[in-house]
Amino acid sequence: VMINEQDTDFDRECNQEWQRDIFKKWKKSPTDKPDIIPTQIGSKTVVNDSSYKYYDRSQDEDVEICEMSKANADQVEEIVKIAAADPGHWRDTTIEERHKIMYDAANRMGNLRGDLIGAMCAITGKTVVEGDVEVSEGIDYCRFYTTSMKKFYALKDVDIKAKGTVLVISPWNFPCAIPCGGVVAGLASGNTVILKPASVAAPVAWLFAKAFWDAGVPKEALQVIITEHDALDKLTQAPEIKHIILTGGTDTAQSILRAKPTTPLSAETGGKNAIICTASADMDHAIMSACHSAFSNAGQKCSACSLFLVERSVYEREDFREKLRDCATSMKVGGVWNAGNVVGPMITNHNEKLLHAINNLEPGESWLVPPHFVDKKSYILAPSVKMGVSPQNYSFRTELFGPMLSVAPFDTLEEAINLVNGLDYGLTSGIQTLDENERHLWRDSIMAGNLYINRGITGAIVNRQPFGGMKLSAFGPGIKAGGPNYCQQFTIITDKAGSK
Ligand code: GLU
Repeated sequence: VMINEQDTDFDRECNQEWQRDIFKKWKKSPTDKPDIIPTQIGSKTVVNDSSYKYYDRSQDEDVEICEMSKANADQVEEIVKIAAADPGHWRDTTIEERHKIMYDAANRMGNLRGDLIGAMCAITGKTVVEGDVEVSEGIDYCRFYTTSMKKFYALKDVDIKAKGTVLVISPWNFPCAIPCGGVVAGLASGNTVILKPASVAAPVAWLFAKAFWDAGVPKEALQVIITEHDALDKLTQAPEIKHIILTGGTDTAQSILRAKPTTPLSAETGGKNAIICTASADMDHAIMSACHSAFSNAGQKCSACSLFLVERSVYEREDFREKLRDCATSMKVGGVWNAGNVVGPMITNHNEKLLHAINNLEPGESWLVPPHFVDKKSYILAPSVKMGVSPQNYSFRTELFGPMLSVAPFDTLEEAINLVNGLDYGLTSGIQTLDENERHLWRDSIMAGNLYINRGITGAIVNRQPFGGMKLSAFGPGIKAGGPNYCQQFTIITDKAGSK
């Protein structure tokens, strides 16, 4: 039985003290000297002239936190060769050895929890609680994937071999959990791994990689790099890469597929996710679920609730609007160094799609809660709620990746389901209703990977809610991350009887 790692209970005084220590260490001042993270080439490191600089988005001045050296094209070639040659013999380890190492890495990651949270707060503007949950998810992957691979290896009549080298390309919005999941999936199935985290959040991955190296993963079997722009294609298109795991934009998945159609790609991409609220719902609960799913992590989740479709009889009620307004405006907004804030800074202040949606109203649209920035640099946007958003409108159809919720009325549940199914994406979806027939109708006809009834639609838990989508939200075999069969796709399976 897999027991999921516990998150920190920040209501406890001792944990609040611990959290204050994290802040003391990671909230840098302009006079602190920024750390330099090198480029890793197998077991060596070098510092190149070209680097990525990280600034604290929570503070009004530009406070540099650290820098990370970028690999150039020649170095990328060397990195790929090392991964393919596997001088540390990772591919020769048994699943028992890998199981032991991954459990050890999980414990080491637990010891790094405070630093990982601090780095996420400082670099990506995550709140403490959101950062904490990610560390737990990373730990869960270490244990769950290796345990599921162990079961797989126990099958009698098959030979299981690693494919070779897996490239993991991970996003900035979950800078710990998602790269960690990809790394463990690759390593647990016996592959060497190159991790290319989103440059804007990469130091977090560099930090957790230490847990793997210290646990016994050879440096050559796990290389963590960011690259010069022109070196990235070299990496994704190298013939030595036998499988690519991508979590990121739909555009990125499509361009990788175009450039290298023969390499297997498992990608989880965008989302435009809705919660449907019928007249039979517990309205207060529905509002809270929608707001939490829309505004946590400043709305920067593929799984975020971006549309709240509400049955017209409820939509038109004055108390519905009042409660929705109260719920959105009561979420504390501000920099991450105040642990009470739940909506923190965004990773960028030029997310064009979001800016378009908050700066324009189409006919019929109006603000229930108008958008406003609370900091000088326009990174911190307070939750906003747009009403009367018609199905053909920009805000109805576009993934915005920010703290804005669009609300629209519907007349029948069938109509609402059709509206959701008419979107390009199909990642998460929710319904709020106390009527069993409505739940059945919805569950049988909604087209999305992760379905949630009477709760929020974010925060999938490893093993309990395997995560993945359909339509433009997923590319490749569509095997869900955090589920029992995920790692098998990185292996070559031959039938013992058949090969004799
Ligand atoms: N797994 C996350 C969740 O369930 C979302 C991942 C993402 O946004 O990429 O909320």
